[in-house]
Amino acid sequence: MKKIELLSSGKAKSLYTTENSDQLIMEYRDDTSAFDGKKIEKLAGKGTVNNRFNAHVMQQIEKSGIPTHFIDEVSENESLVRKLEMVPIECVVRNITAGSICKRLGLEEGMELNPPTFEFFYKDDELGDPMVNEFHIISFNWGTEEDIEEMRELTFKVNDVLKKMFADGGLLLVDFKLEFGRQDGKMYLGDEMTPDGCRVWDAETRKKLDKDRFRQGLGDVIESYQEIASRIGVSLEN
Ligand code: ADP
Ligand code: UDP
Repeated sequence: MKKIELLSSGKAKSLYTTENSDQLIMEYRDDTSAFDGKKIEKLAGKGTVNNRFNAHVMQQIEKSGIPTHFIDEVSENESLVRKLEMVPIECVVRNITAGSICKRLGLEEGMELNPPTFEFFYKDDELGDPMVNEFHIISFNWGTEEDIEEMRELTFKVNDVLKKMFADGGLLLVDFKLEFGRQDGKMYLGDEMTPDGCRVWDAETRKKLDKDRFRQGLGDVIESYQEIASRIGVSLEN
């Protein structure tokens, strides 16, 4: 499948049309951003590691019965995906406190949450992706009650699959963000599941191995992404 035309370019990925109007090529670029695009850098090799990582994770998720947009890898940093009509909402599950919830609620980082907690955020960089609730999603027409139910249920299912997958690699899945969309009325997991959109710590030492290394200037960002990848069985060879 070949790229025809650039459809959109976000902070880290670009989408291209293909000969099939239901399918897009998603290109993972080396661009890395944080704080709603206020900190931006190019990190060599990130596009490749994230594309490979995402392909592996999406395939595992699909195997567990959750529909995803992922079809196939087409190059080291590009994948073919179903074209979705995205719900402009980020679904976040937290197994352990970190990031914005600590600031918002004055919590210490590292508290285990039983049961895990769930939040919706409205995708809008200018507004800083504000947290919203179910009523906002419906009143402002960002999604329906059915979208909300399905997204929440699927996100918790993904959490069960991924928590185990990371635990098997000696890793803790602290939190993660997912985005969903529809094609022909059916809801699919879209976007990506990579260390750019989740927090992963070493289970023993609690060393941060995800995008917090970039956000907090801890260094070895790509090396850490590669370490998570190898510990969950992602092949980074050509
Ligand atoms: P952002 O700057 O919004 O973080 P990215 O650089 O991650 O964006 O680019 C991905 C964009 O493509 C996002 O806006 C995301 O919602 C959208 N997207 C993800 N998967 C699909 C899909 N399967 N079909 C259409 N759009 C998608
Ligand atoms: N996240 C993301 N994109 C966003 C906001 C958050 O991928 O625009 C991910 C983030 O990497 C983390 C989880 O969602 O794994 C929860 O993020 P949080 O609300 O703590 O925000 P942060 O402090 O990371 O901005």
